[in-house]
Amino acid sequence: SIAEADSMVVLSHFKGHGMAGFGGAIKNLGMGCTSKRGKMWQHSASKPEYDAENCILCRKCIEFCPADAITEEEGHILINYERCWGCGACTVLCEQGCFSLPSQWIQKFQKRVAVAAKAALQAVDGRASFMNVLMDITPRCDCCSFAGKPMLEDIGILASRDAVAIDTASYELVCDAAGKDVFHEVHGIYSMVQVEEAEKLGIGTGEYVLESV
Ligand code: SF4
Ligand code: SF4
Repeated sequence: SIAEADSMVVLSHFKGHGMAGFGGAIKNLGMGCTSKRGKMWQHSASKPEYDAENCILCRKCIEFCPADAITEEEGHILINYERCWGCGACTVLCEQGCFSLPSQWIQKFQKRVAVAAKAALQAVDGRASFMNVLMDITPRCDCCSFAGKPMLEDIGILASRDAVAIDTASYELVCDAAGKDVFHEVHGIYSMVQVEEAEKLGIGTGEYVLESV
């Protein structure tokens, strides 16, 4: 297990993410290297809100919700917040845009990802190196069936000993290639909150120099 490892090489596919904005090294450390309890703690920071105005009662959200937290009663969609994991899937899959996550909850989630990332690094006494793959960059997380098609041409593969630097460089390279913040455009989220929080927690530095090999 990671807790018993001497060191880590963190290989991350860099892509969009409905709650973090993007997923890279910090997201992979925070969510990928922690226990089920740790993952739940990060997600439990946020719960979706539902707006019935555009709902067509297609029931996709009910069928998809992994926590069985969404039901329909007499033509109304209801969320059971006691059951909801805060995974955010309903906010992405509802094509009518009926679910949303308030920005303060999203920021809480992003900051918890950074805290969990620090804990994962502490487990190996900081002995970690990182590779971010900037290829097939999908708008949504590649763990879900609705990840979407790649948004731009492949950029390459980055390597660093610093999780903050590699995520900062990855984000800026994608924005430069797209000519805009594509993650904000897709998700309406400022995705660098997780990175800035990680820097505040002492995980690394946002300053970097790119060297081509
Ligand atoms: S997926 Fe959206 S449109 Fe369909 S039932 Fe759920 S909230 Fe309504
Ligand atoms: S956030 Fe996840 S667990 Fe909560 S209602 Fe939406 S799909 Fe279900």
